[in-house]
Amino acid sequence: MCASMVELGTEICPCGLGKPYSQCCEPFHQGKNHAETAEQLMRSRYTAYVKHLDEYLLRTWAESTRPVGMDVEEALSWQKLTVLKTKKGRQKDKKGWVTFCAEYQIGLERFKLVEKSEFKRDDNGHWVYVEGEFE
Ligand SMILES: [Zn+2]
Repeated sequence: MCASMVELGTEICPCGLGKPYSQCCEPFHQGKNHAETAEQLMRSRYTAYVKHLDEYLLRTWAESTRPVGMDVEEALSWQKLTVLKTKKGRQKDKKGWVTFCAEYQIGLERFKLVEKSEFKRDDNGHWVYVEGEFE
């Protein structure tokens, strides 16, 4: 039996869950579905950074902290996401925190960023990103 269940040509979602993009973060990006947990939103936002989906990043940003526009660093390429810790952010919660490590590359140099992000539910009950704190 083939070790991989994923068909050739299927794009694996960059968020780290190993599922095809079309069954992972894409429905969130297309607005067909909403993240059920803070971690799901965090992963879908990471993928949006990978794909430069500025509109999604702004849409899932709390109004109080949302920037006017995204300042995309073209030279930077996101490599890997690892979720280190989550606190609350479940279906029944109104707030949540996700600590993650994101690896990125600029030129030949590779960097690591560890951030604790805060999420809350907006007026429609959808998870949004509030702010992050570097660790
Ligand atoms: Zn994903």
